[in-house]
Amino acid sequence: MMGDQADVMTAIPLVDLRAAHAQVAAEIQAGFDDVISSTAFVKGDVAAAFEADYAAFTGVAHCVGVANGTDALELALRAAEVPAGAEVIMPANTFVATAEAVVRAGARPAFADVDPDYLLLDPGALQAALSRQTGAVIPVHLFGQMAPMAAVADTAHTAHTARRGTVIIEDAAQAHGATQNGRPAGSFGLLAGVSFYPGKNLGAYGDAGAVLTESAEHARRVRLLGDHGSERRYEHVTIGFNSRLDAFQAVVLRAKLRGLAAGNLARRQAASRYAELLADLPEVILPRTAPGNEHVWHLYAIRVPRRDQVLRCLHDEGISAGIHYPVPVHLQPAFRHLGYGPGDFPVAEAAAGQLLSLPLYPQITPEQQARVADAVGRALG
Ligand SMILES: *Cc1c(COP(=O)(O)O)cnc(C)c1O
Repeated sequence: MMGDQADVMTAIPLVDLRAAHAQVAAEIQAGFDDVISSTAFVKGDVAAAFEADYAAFTGVAHCVGVANGTDALELALRAAEVPAGAEVIMPANTFVATAEAVVRAGARPAFADVDPDYLLLDPGALQAALSRQTGAVIPVHLFGQMAPMAAVADTAHTAHTARRGTVIIEDAAQAHGATQNGRPAGSFGLLAGVSFYPGKNLGAYGDAGAVLTESAEHARRVRLLGDHGSERRYEHVTIGFNSRLDAFQAVVLRAKLRGLAAGNLARRQAASRYAELLADLPEVILPRTAPGNEHVWHLYAIRVPRRDQVLRCLHDEGISAGIHYPVPVHLQPAFRHLGYGPGDFPVAEAAAGQLLSLPLYPQITPEQQARVADAVGRALG
């Protein structure tokens, strides 16, 4: 009874990283000890082992570990040789890093709207945005499900508006283990960028990322660029970067990777439970899975009216909900110079005012979810 009461009063985080750590604590400590005794702190055997493990897990041929997800996207664009000044089209509702990576790679972000059902890059909007200046398209696998890759690829490669040689780079930062018609995220584009930021489905204990690709040559280029332009010690064939996988992070990622499939399954079950719990609230738009997609539920983002008020009510009850993302990238001050304005992408802009991410992590309990759903119902009145 006391226990139950305590549970009812406890705060519910958006993501519970402490619960995830408990399952791998011993293995991680042992791995850290090994790294310390080897003194191979950057890359090393454990990073190579993780790269092989993650490639095997996803089913994509090559995985190159890098320092973070933003670097992964930048290095992917550079390895693909997207020309300087070319436009790179992405959906307007994404994390800002997608656009940052494009600028850092010397190209220019361009945006397209998303579809109203799934909030993924809309192939019709993409078609309209393509031009002779387009160098690449970055579909974002938002919240854990993949953008419509066949339609995106078809549009990018065949539209009369498109430039020949337009490449596709997937932003797979939220899609660890996601598939579409049985094919994994990272296998459709020329390359894909992955983030292992702590809160992602597979999260490090600091920053880490990876590039996935089916192309051995592009994997080689990413590795070269991320390691000071060098494959042989003190021979630098190009001006590169320092973007390598840290050995401690590789230890964490290897240990947590073993639980990723089970974690994704638990997220899927939690997502269906939310769908049942919220089904009777007519004002709530539930997130949907597009046909053919295996969703990994990085986020469970509903859409509600009076969103900010609902968010405040949840916070008052100790429930940490979030907003992904409150301001679409084309309206961020940092990208004002691109010349976009309010009204350019109505679906993304409307979603930004309604989206509300509910707590979701593999260890969330049915009781916690019921409390969240009740609180949402009360907040909506
Ligand atoms: C997390 C994220 C990134 C960037 O990853 P970092 O590791 O934080 O640099 C890029 N794109 C999307 C969609 C993300 O969610």
